[in-house]
Amino acid sequence: GSPWEKFTMAPPDPIIGLTEAYLKDDFPDKVNVGVGAYRDDSGKPFVLPVVRDAEREINLENLDHEYSGIAGCPSFVDHALKFVYGENSAPLKEKRIAGVQTLSGTGGLRVFGEVLNRFGHKHIYVPNPTWGNHIPIFTNAGLEVRKYRYYDNESCSLDFSNLIDDIKAMPEGSCILLHACAHNPTGMDPTLEQWKEISNVAMEKNLLPFFDSAYQGFASGDARKDAAAVRMFVEDGHKIAVVQSFSKNFGLYGQRVGALSVVADTADESQRVVSQLKVHIRPNYSNPPRHGARIVSKILACPEKTNDFVDQCMGMANRIDGMRTTLRKALEDLGSSRSWDHITKQIGMFAYSGMSKDEVIALREKHHIYCTLDGRISMAGVTSNNVEYIARAIYDVTD
Ligand code: PMP
Repeated sequence: GSPWEKFTMAPPDPIIGLTEAYLKDDFPDKVNVGVGAYRDDSGKPFVLPVVRDAEREINLENLDHEYSGIAGCPSFVDHALKFVYGENSAPLKEKRIAGVQTLSGTGGLRVFGEVLNRFGHKHIYVPNPTWGNHIPIFTNAGLEVRKYRYYDNESCSLDFSNLIDDIKAMPEGSCILLHACAHNPTGMDPTLEQWKEISNVAMEKNLLPFFDSAYQGFASGDARKDAAAVRMFVEDGHKIAVVQSFSKNFGLYGQRVGALSVVADTADESQRVVSQLKVHIRPNYSNPPRHGARIVSKILACPEKTNDFVDQCMGMANRIDGMRTTLRKALEDLGSSRSWDHITKQIGMFAYSGMSKDEVIALREKHHIYCTLDGRISMAGVTSNNVEYIARAIYDVTD
């Protein structure tokens, strides 16, 4: 018999599987609001003009295709760290942040999960709900995934007092994953005052805060503002870890550009940390790809290009924001009996609609609109052309 006889058909991925189903659907007005990838107002993938400029310049440099180092391109890592910690970050100036390039956010999460496991962590806390892939990433890294309360479905808002209670109940020294901004899937972030309280409680319990920063600049349009929680925790003296993705903000999804960093006590300690990160990367994928990191470096090394990036990233965030208002208004104009206030209260790429699983399935089967079973709608896929159609369909399955 075949060596693969015992392989059963695995279920489709809960997010990527939606795109597969969407592509097979031949209904002309079908809509893909599953995966979190930005579309322009005509529904097309969008390449930032500043990325095109950087690529043209890189092409003219006739660079080679040699291997990168295990930790990736050092200048990319420098720029990535400045981007999230800020130019004036004390640990950055003191050279006590250990940083490596990673295979985008996902790769950085996996590497750090393995490193935690290697250095004695048995579990990690993630918000409930969280990005679906967090759970298998950390499970496969050998960690038990535990959840802390984050969102109240009834009021469609942050469940802050339970969040604090759950943090207070965590064992000393636990690692807690925090979404740096634009929480996926809920679109609800703590306020700065609430972040301060989280920071204080985390300090009392000697927790290791691990920030997943997948939407910096994409949430508010202002990269500095979106890094506020990360910077606050560093100023408060936490030895945080951060994973950065450049998929959404720079629109470099398929190039797999990311960074993982750890704030250490001393420059010497940070070098030891980098050495251990490299020990985990080398047998995993050896070294990261070059092209995307060159693009990000090229942009962040040049103040003019960085300004263009900020404008263009803001343009994406603003388009999404406009669609939130339009979608909510369309639902209200149809006379929906539900409140849709949360659509405009939430930020970032997603609307956590509050639709039930049955309503999501009806949306798909009756109206050919594809979103995840938890009712998460990627606002990045909503456009002037399809927003009315989406509103009517949601109204139809929810009223
Ligand atoms: N973290 C969160 C919260 C995300 O939403 C995503 C992308 N959906 C990622 C990490 C990782 O994305 P990537 O691997 O493309 O950087």
